[in-house]
Amino acid sequence: MYDFAIIGGGIIGLSTAMTLGQTYPRAKIVVLEKESQWAFHQTGHNSGVIHSGVYYKPGGFKARFCRAGNQSMVAFCQQHNIDYNICGKVLVAVEESELPLLENLYQRGLKNDLNVSKISPAQVKEIEPHVRCIAGLHVPSTGIVNYRQVSQKYADLIRLQGGELYLNTKVVKIVSTTNSEVLETTQGEFATRFIINCAGLHSDRVAKLGKAKPNAKIVPFRGEYYELKPEKRYLVNTLIYPVPNPDFPFLGVHFTKMIDGSVHAGPNAVLSLKREGYQKTDFNLRDFVEVMTYPGFWRLAAKHSDEGIQEIIRSFSKEAFARSLQRLIPEVQAEDLVPTHAGVRAQALKNNGKLVDDFLIVSNKNSVHVCNAPSPAATSSIEIGKAIVDKIVGRDLAQTSTIQKTPADVP
Ligand SMILES: Cc1cc2nc3c(=O)[nH]c(=O)nc-3n(C[C@H](O)[C@H](O)[C@H](O)COP(=O)(O)OP(=O)(O)OC[C@H]3O[C@@H](n4cnc5c(N)ncnc54)[C@H](O)[C@@H]3O)c2cc1C
Repeated sequence: MYDFAIIGGGIIGLSTAMTLGQTYPRAKIVVLEKESQWAFHQTGHNSGVIHSGVYYKPGGFKARFCRAGNQSMVAFCQQHNIDYNICGKVLVAVEESELPLLENLYQRGLKNDLNVSKISPAQVKEIEPHVRCIAGLHVPSTGIVNYRQVSQKYADLIRLQGGELYLNTKVVKIVSTTNSEVLETTQGEFATRFIINCAGLHSDRVAKLGKAKPNAKIVPFRGEYYELKPEKRYLVNTLIYPVPNPDFPFLGVHFTKMIDGSVHAGPNAVLSLKREGYQKTDFNLRDFVEVMTYPGFWRLAAKHSDEGIQEIIRSFSKEAFARSLQRLIPEVQAEDLVPTHAGVRAQALKNNGKLVDDFLIVSNKNSVHVCNAPSPAATSSIEIGKAIVDKIVGRDLAQTSTIQKTPADVP
């Protein structure tokens, strides 16, 4: 019998298990992951940015967790010798109509207590000589890291704390009994007193298995990237972002210097016909039917059909992708771009057609379900892990003998 079973070995599941182990050193903790590696899905396919928190609504979870997460991620990397680089980023307006949006972002940055400054096109050029813009913001606290490495370190620490980690173990059913929750998996049964669902692209389905009601469905949005040819890397020193469309939670295609020195451009945001569909041709009937029969999707599509069509064109046309990038760096040519990895975002969508903007964590009797953890959740992973543990602390369950904090454990 376990005290805590965490479903999903992405950065959120692993961070939660690590924090639970630190909070309850005597608890029996298990992490169940269906793939053969940790961080196989969203966490292993992202941009690797340690976000600062400029974009997010002041007071919301994203704003608070990202700001704190930026610092805790850097501290974690320092403590565990993980390569990172706080290189800062520029956000630039390229036409007059974007100036009010840039001003809004500046104000948001200030409200979120960040060090953000307005910079002139000449100052932008000092940081990024190849960018053409009419105004910019500089956010020095943004950085880069490899989140697979961070996740692997979380897994190592869980093991050191005595936690158990199972790969190739997919949870297929949850059965509640009088004194436990039984997880039926592809590797047999695991009985636990408490479940934490961190299943990312499948979090709504796992929530349903656990009889929780997130009131939202996961809709997968693929983000495709190109890489600049090595001889063109000189065009980008740090991170270069456009002013994003305020109606979407995505940041617009941008340039990211990766921690390995390569430069990635993207990601776009196209509806994926498979939840874990990394190729344009990937298709899964169940995933497709679920989206197509969900009224929320059609409400969203009706409102944003133009943007959706533009995204599809940009997905299939390298020239169209290059044109988006040329708004930031006119020298970039389609032939400088080589297709590279893609990632699929788990974005929760409500029945009314509204994308869930903030992180969404739903509690049930013996479970907690992370139902929306898109970007900047990797940056915020330590803080989200702490928030989940805070939801558990104080429950009756946490008072029982095995997992009770000893006086020495209490911070
Ligand atoms: C293209 C892209 C770019 C991004 N860029 C950034 C960025 O630069 N900075 C940032 O902070 N964030 C970024 N994000 C967001 C960030 O990557 C995610 O928010 C974060 O990785 C979510 O972690 P997770 O653990 O919730 O999900 P995941 O990493 O997807 O992990 C969920 C895990 O659950 C497992 N699972 C699912 N169902 C089951 C089951 N039934 N049984 C067992 N296991 C199961 C899956 O196999 C998976 O490993 C980006 C995301 C994408 C897609």
